[in-house]
Amino acid sequence: KSCILWFRKDLRLSDHPALDYAIEEGYSILPLYIFEDAEAWPMGEASRWWLHHALMDLGEQLDGFGAKLHIVDGSKEAHQTLSALVKKIDADAVFWSRRYEAESILQDSEIKKELMASGVLVKSFSASLINEPFNVSNQSGKPYKVFTPYWKKCREIPLRELTQPDLSKASWQKLEDGLTVEELELLPSLSWDDGFYEMWDPHRSGAASLLNQLGDGRAAAYSENRDMLAESGTSRLSPYLAFGQISPIEIIHALSEVKAEDYLRQLYWRDFSYHLLYHFPKTDKEPLREEWRLFPWGVDEKIVGKWQRGETGYPVVDAAMRELWHTGWMHNRARMIVASVLVKHFQQDWMVGAQWFWDTLVDADLANNTMGWQWSAGCGADAAPYFRVFNPVTQGQKFDPDGIYIRKYVPELSALPNKYIYCPWEAPSALLEDCGIVLGQSYPQPILLPSEGRKMALDAYQAFKNSL
Ligand code: FAD
Repeated sequence: KSCILWFRKDLRLSDHPALDYAIEEGYSILPLYIFEDAEAWPMGEASRWWLHHALMDLGEQLDGFGAKLHIVDGSKEAHQTLSALVKKIDADAVFWSRRYEAESILQDSEIKKELMASGVLVKSFSASLINEPFNVSNQSGKPYKVFTPYWKKCREIPLRELTQPDLSKASWQKLEDGLTVEELELLPSLSWDDGFYEMWDPHRSGAASLLNQLGDGRAAAYSENRDMLAESGTSRLSPYLAFGQISPIEIIHALSEVKAEDYLRQLYWRDFSYHLLYHFPKTDKEPLREEWRLFPWGVDEKIVGKWQRGETGYPVVDAAMRELWHTGWMHNRARMIVASVLVKHFQQDWMVGAQWFWDTLVDADLANNTMGWQWSAGCGADAAPYFRVFNPVTQGQKFDPDGIYIRKYVPELSALPNKYIYCPWEAPSALLEDCGIVLGQSYPQPILLPSEGRKMALDAYQAFKNSL
């Protein structure tokens, strides 16, 4: 008997329940990847870069076991592509790992219905989360909107077992007419990706090495270092998780001997974001808290452009936005700062920020990105209240106390002493001159002073509250 194993966001061969099942049940397996671009959120450039490498790697790993990853370009037609392949190899079954975004759920359930109607067995598996969103509910049977009780509840639920498919036992179906990864043309035509290669090994080996570092001390020191912008205090596993090159269950198992409670809590935040997006499926486009749909979010392209390019005149924000552009990743603390500044100081729509992140992050993830932006904008579940306005100067002083992060990404300010590195507009002009800085030329004047931005944000909030 034969089956199709449809890889999506589970681009790995370990802890893969669908693959395990197919092998254990003795199917001859066609490993398949269909490149499709979601209509609502077409894949961003940085994610395409990552996907290219993840697919190359998965293909090579499969090759090592005598299998061939069959690749098809099925943009917006996964349905027809899959049905045609089922017919072609006369497959008895199709297996996949479940997805949780509304568009994917709809697509998967339609495909499942159609295949089952023609007598093909379809089975889906839990592989990407610790707990699936529909398995966690509060005492009234409703979804959670606050993280801490959600997390407490999750800790009572036994973990799914780690599955290690025995690939030496697998038998494979091979088709000759698939595409190569290169033929998907995922890599950029202009090479803006040098920094990505410097920072990342986008293969399973990269995840394994980061996981080792996590177990070797990073997880234990996580609470101390996780907010420090210049430290490698966090795991940087997010893109591997986003593409499923590693599973959260694998991470939990790898850390079972380590004191890693604070770190593991963050993995549950990831689950929580999926819980929210699953139960409130429109929140990728609109605030979860209904009253916030009336907030007068604005868009000023000039301001947004400066923010995107890292030219706001707030050094910590500019460093973070340039880190994102250069590496495809940004530190979580920095994400919170740049999001707060965009939405509050500059009064821009959080969706504009979410879209930019979507396009530029290698770990772009609809659930996490939506929750992160709604948290920052104060309009989501368990969000930071809108009136909590991060000060870009004090945030820099606190989380980049030696100015290392700022100097790395905003080198034109590097000669400034620490006192002014967070707020060059306050530096005496003689000092600026000595440091070779001309504000407005070699480095921008701030779009507005942080105190003005704070006032504008609080005024807008008050006016909004009065209007309700
Ligand atoms: P670690 O600190 O090592 O954490 C381990 C894992 O836990 C992460 O890989 C991630 O999967 C999960 N995690 C950690 N913090 C969070 C969090 N706050 N929310 C949800 N999950 C978390 N994360 C994404 O993966 N994709 C996104 O598109 C994304 N967009 C964001 C947008 C904004 C505005 C904000 C504030 C946060 C966003 N995050 C997003 C969450 C978080 O910033 C990243 O997951 C984290 O920085 C990834 O780095 P790390 O792997 O070193 O994290």
